[in-house]
Amino acid sequence: MGHTIQRECTRCGTCCAKGGPALHREDLSRLEKGAFGRKDLMTFRRGELVRDQISGELMPLEQEIVKLRGRDTNTWTCRFLNIVDHLCFIYNDRPVECRALDCWNPEEISAMYDKDRITRMDVVGDESGVAELIRVHEEKCGYAQLERHSAAFDADPAAREAFAEAVRFDMAFRAVVCEKAGIPAEELEFYFGRTLADTAHMFGLKVTVTEEGPVVERENASAAA
Ligand code: SF4
Repeated sequence: MGHTIQRECTRCGTCCAKGGPALHREDLSRLEKGAFGRKDLMTFRRGELVRDQISGELMPLEQEIVKLRGRDTNTWTCRFLNIVDHLCFIYNDRPVECRALDCWNPEEISAMYDKDRITRMDVVGDESGVAELIRVHEEKCGYAQLERHSAAFDADPAAREAFAEAVRFDMAFRAVVCEKAGIPAEELEFYFGRTLADTAHMFGLKVTVTEEGPVVERENASAAA
């Protein structure tokens, strides 16, 4: 019995369930016309560990990417996938990666997926007020310096404190920009990426929020004690 060779999308929804696409320059016009908004976006910052779309391997990002978010915090499934019939809510305005992705023939997506990706600055503009907030946040919470703090975390109390200080800053900063700068809470992960409390596990660390503030420790610290 011969195998059927797939030549077209069968609307199984598998691609969309693996996560929303990263956005490219061509997608800016779709953002501008309102096919999706900033609340639908999530930034993965430079140095953040992400799974490479093609190789499937976890690797740190050399350059930040902006993606369509998942449906909620428990799943990466693209928020525009109708999980009942596996159709796309924004099909006519779907991003360029979705157009290039033929799961039975990955050549087109392999050739374009890491080219012309947009960053936050492409969306907000380099000179805007929020661009300055993004720069301040990167200066305090950039992954390159967190990597250095985490490498010395076990041996150096100053490195532990520096990591904890970045986590405290990240939490406080998000609260302040919502309250004082009027940034909607649902847009925070576009402007400032995932919280350090969420991404500390990249460094083998975990953050526990207590009444006294966040506590940062090795993920296996309790088990080892
Ligand atoms: S935008 Fe549409 S086609 Fe693209 S991943 Fe989301 S649901 Fe799938």
